[in-house]
Amino acid sequence: MQADGVGGFVASLDDDRQLSAGKLLLAFGVQDGFPDGIAGVRERWGTSVLHCPYCHGYEFGGRRLGVLVEAPHPPEHAMLIAEWGPTTLFLNGNNTVEDEVRGKLQARGVTIEPGRIAALEGPAKDLSGVRLEDGRIVPVEALFMVPRTRPGSPIAEQLGCAFDEGHAGPVIRIDAMKMTTVPGVYAAGDAAMQMHNATLASADGVMAGTSMHRAMVFGA
Ligand SMILES: Cc1cc2nc3c(=O)[nH]c(=O)nc-3n(C[C@H](O)[C@H](O)[C@H](O)COP(=O)(O)OP(=O)(O)OC[C@H]3O[C@@H](n4cnc5c(N)ncnc54)[C@H](O)[C@@H]3O)c2cc1C
Repeated sequence: MQADGVGGFVASLDDDRQLSAGKLLLAFGVQDGFPDGIAGVRERWGTSVLHCPYCHGYEFGGRRLGVLVEAPHPPEHAMLIAEWGPTTLFLNGNNTVEDEVRGKLQARGVTIEPGRIAALEGPAKDLSGVRLEDGRIVPVEALFMVPRTRPGSPIAEQLGCAFDEGHAGPVIRIDAMKMTTVPGVYAAGDAAMQMHNATLASADGVMAGTSMHRAMVFGA
């Protein structure tokens, strides 16, 4: 992807075709990064290892839940998950929860497990427990985590778009009309927002498309 020198862009496809456009919408989403050394996370992602209680909380309501958060995401995340069921916060060996936060978590009924995680247990994509390095198994049926994300493509960076640091990774900076810091380049969806949700991503795309059309008709 590159600027064409006269205000537009040229995209090179992997079948060697080239497409020209006056405006560009980046909607390539994000890629999720998983914690190293925990067997069983990747294959359960989206089934019993989950990113969002608002998307998946209902299915697991009232069941035993786990939360794994790693810096810079705060351990307070477990206070939200406790809304849906009895919750264990796994510190995975990172025992740095401040006393005040620890008190708040305990007041919400969250159990804090400091041990390092070795693997997830359970048949196929289901989860029955979290096995710790000391051999104990903590029974949980769903594990919520916030993976570190990175843009789904390097194109925004290559074009010179600015990023902000979101709670889970870099987010393309956009204005109210969904335009990035590079004139003529717009961005929508997960790549340009902190909360990853299909409805929000879709609405973002509507707004970006509308803005681009207006800019082409009225000039911008
Ligand atoms: C496990 C999981 C479960 C989820 N469950 C829910 C849920 O229940 N409800 C909900 O609302 N949201 C859910 N989400 C979030 C939702 O999936 C995202 O918010 C939404 O898909 C974002 O849409 P998007 O179009 O921005 O990105 P994506 O859906 O990621 O689409 C981006 C597309 O761009 C493609 N792409 C990347 N680079 C290039 C390139 N160079 N050229 C061509 N194509 C490229 C990618 O292959 C991908 O197909 C879930 C997310 C995950 C990870």
